[in-house]
Amino acid sequence: TKFKKGLAKTRNSFATKVNDLVARYRTVDEDFFEELEEILISADVGVNTVMDLIDELKMEVKRRNIKDTREVREVISEKLVDIYYGDDDEEIEEITFNQDGLTVLLFVGVNGVGKTTTIGKMAHRLKQQGKNVVMAAGDTFRAGAIEQLEVWGERVGVPVVRHSEGSDPAAVIYDGIQSAKSKGADVLLCDTAGRLQNKVNLMNELSKVKRVIEREIPGAPHESLLVLDATTGQNALSQAKTFSEATNVSGIVLTKLDGTAKGGIVMAIRNELDIPVKFVGLGEKVTDLQSFDAHAFVYGLFA
Ligand code: GDP
Repeated sequence: TKFKKGLAKTRNSFATKVNDLVARYRTVDEDFFEELEEILISADVGVNTVMDLIDELKMEVKRRNIKDTREVREVISEKLVDIYYGDDDEEIEEITFNQDGLTVLLFVGVNGVGKTTTIGKMAHRLKQQGKNVVMAAGDTFRAGAIEQLEVWGERVGVPVVRHSEGSDPAAVIYDGIQSAKSKGADVLLCDTAGRLQNKVNLMNELSKVKRVIEREIPGAPHESLLVLDATTGQNALSQAKTFSEATNVSGIVLTKLDGTAKGGIVMAIRNELDIPVKFVGLGEKVTDLQSFDAHAFVYGLFA
């Protein structure tokens, strides 16, 4: 139900348009598909993904000899879920935990997307699951980022390892690992800087942070989660391209889905980049981080 509420904007816009379309066209024809295409593009599903989806729909409609547009609406949901999961098993693991020792989760993404907020919510979520969590304030660049993480630390009752602003992020993460180990913590959440103006520096900095983590804990980081802002639409897609070219991204956290009617971006990210959306942000509260489930997402859109 939380999922449904957070998707209200997308649902209101998308489902209303599709339902209206279905009401206007009783029987399936070329114009129907053309209008449907526009609706999907306006929901930020992404042009390539929309083309794939429309092709699949047309084939399925032909195969099943569907004439009634109401039936097509059902097929849209099925195909959206299919496109999301592709050849994968429907069980995409939300977080891969280290079975013997500290699990390290690295968060990357540009400023303002909601990275710090997501880390705070994640700390709460993991704590609720009984995990012992530590956070490392690796965004030493953005003014106020360290303090913001400390506020989250107090709010959710999780210690934060920090250095001063401007210091070396890799050194902060190194200390974070030592501190988490000495506390016998289960999970370390690592914040990183997100200035994209200087892409080369940013990527070098990320590589250095990763090297430190890999050296200290073989097999880590266990997840590199890219945080993207859903309200930026196709821009989020290009950020995802940039980051996944420069570093290994294991999953995406899509924030601010509550603030956009363009939730279709989930589909574009999955179809065009083949990176699973693992979590979504549906608000600013500590409990507003949900694990992503494409089935619930797609059917939530029409519910
Ligand atoms: P950072 O620069 O990436 O660390 O971004 P912040 O964590 O500071 O977040 C930027 C703004 O987005 C803040 O005002 C957050 O409260 C807000 N925000 C983050 N996640 C969400 C979300 O899922 N929904 C909404 N509505 N706001 C969010």
